[in-house]
Amino acid sequence: MYTTSGIKTPYYLYDLDILHNTLTMAVNAASAHGYQIHYAIKANHNPIITRIISEYGMGADCVSGNEVSEALHRGFPTEKIVYAGVGKGDEEILQALANDIFCFNVESLEELQVIDELAGQQGTIARVALRVNPDVYANTHKYITTGLEENKFGIQRSQLREALDFCLQSDRLDFMGLHFHIGSQITDMMPFEKLCERVNEIWEEFEISATGARILNLGGGLGVNYADPVNNAYPDFESFFNVFARHLKIPQHVDVHFELGRSLVAQCGSLITRVLYTKKGVQKDFVVTDAGMTELMRPSLYQALHKIENLTNLNGEESQYDVVGPVCESSDVFGKNVNLPETRRGDLLAIRSCGAYAESMMLRYNMRTRAKSHFLSKGEISTVCHKEQRNGFAKPIRVSMSN
Ligand SMILES: *Cc1c(COP(=O)(O)O)cnc(C)c1O
Repeated sequence: MYTTSGIKTPYYLYDLDILHNTLTMAVNAASAHGYQIHYAIKANHNPIITRIISEYGMGADCVSGNEVSEALHRGFPTEKIVYAGVGKGDEEILQALANDIFCFNVESLEELQVIDELAGQQGTIARVALRVNPDVYANTHKYITTGLEENKFGIQRSQLREALDFCLQSDRLDFMGLHFHIGSQITDMMPFEKLCERVNEIWEEFEISATGARILNLGGGLGVNYADPVNNAYPDFESFFNVFARHLKIPQHVDVHFELGRSLVAQCGSLITRVLYTKKGVQKDFVVTDAGMTELMRPSLYQALHKIENLTNLNGEESQYDVVGPVCESSDVFGKNVNLPETRRGDLLAIRSCGAYAESMMLRYNMRTRAKSHFLSKGEISTVCHKEQRNGFAKPIRVSMSN
C-alpha cells in the first residue's frame, strides 16, 4: 500500500503505469480497425497527464478555447485538434481559426453561419463536421446523456438538411463529415450498436457519400467499472471498437474517429484524503474527510458511486459509515452506508477511479485550497514529469509502495 507521510491531504494520486497500460491498449485496439482516437481533454487537463497522452499520437477533443490552447501547448498537433461545444464564443472561434485546427464539430445552424462569417473575415476556410443529435438512449445518468432529442447537444435531424446545404454552398466552409456523441459512462454495448444503426440510416438518407465527406466522428462515452476498479482497471476497448467495426456501413475511405475521455484516465487516479472526524449519527456513523465535493464533484452532481478504501486500517472489522466531506452542502457525500474497516480520525482513505472528471472539475467553493496532484510509478518517474517539473508544474514525487 501507499505510504504517504508528510504529503498534504487531500491530493490526487496518479498511477502512471496504469495510464501507460490503458493508453497502449486503447491505441492497439483502435488501430486494429484503422480508427483514430482524440483524447477528450475535459476529462483531465493535468499537464503531466495530457503530455503523456499526446505522446501516444492521439488527437485532442476540446470544448473551449482554453482547451484548444492547452492541447497545443501540451504537444497535440494542430491537425489533430477538434473543437465541440454548444456555446463557442466568437473569440474562441477566431482563435481556433487562427490556429487552423483540424475540425469544428458544429452544434447548430446559427453556429455554422457564425463560423462561416468569421472565416470570411479572416480570409480563411473552416473545416467543419456537423454534430447530429441521433436520438439514441445511452442508458446512463440523465445528466450525462447527450444524444436524446431533449438534450441541448447537436443538430436535430429535422435541421440537418438545411445545415448540410449551407455547408455545401459556402466556399468558406469545408464539410468534413458527421459527428456524434451520445453520452458518458456507457458500459452496455447496446447503445453503441443503436448509434451505428442510426449513423447508417442518416448517412444514407442524407446521401452523405455524395457530399465528399471524409470523416465520421463517433464521440466517446465508454464507461469504466467504478464498483470494482482494482480488478477492472482496464476498459474493454476491443469489444467497444468491435461493435463499430461490425455494425457501421459507411464507405471504406471515410476515416473513423473517436473521442475517449473517461475510459483513458479514470482508473489511473485516486483521491487521497484524511479522516478529520468520526461522529455518531442516529442510525449510522459518519466519517468526515478533508476532501469534499470541491475535489470530487461526481457524487454530488450525478449521484456517482466511487469505491472507498481505508489505507491505514486495511483489514479491521467492518462497520457501515456515511463518508462525507467538509463542504457546506448536504450533497457533499462520497458514499452512504459504505462498508469500511473500523475508521478513526487520522486514517488515510483512497477514493478510487478519480482520474476522470475529478481534478478537472475542482471548485474553489468555500474558498477551498486547490488540491495538488502527485504521480506514482513502479519504475522511474518518467522524463515527462521531470520536464514539467522544471517548467513549474505539479511536482512528481516518489511514493514508496509496501506489500
Ligand atoms: C465529454 C465528451 C467526450 C468524452 O466523453 P467520455 O465519456 O469521457 O469518453 C467526447 N466527445 C464530446 C463531444 C464530449 O463532450
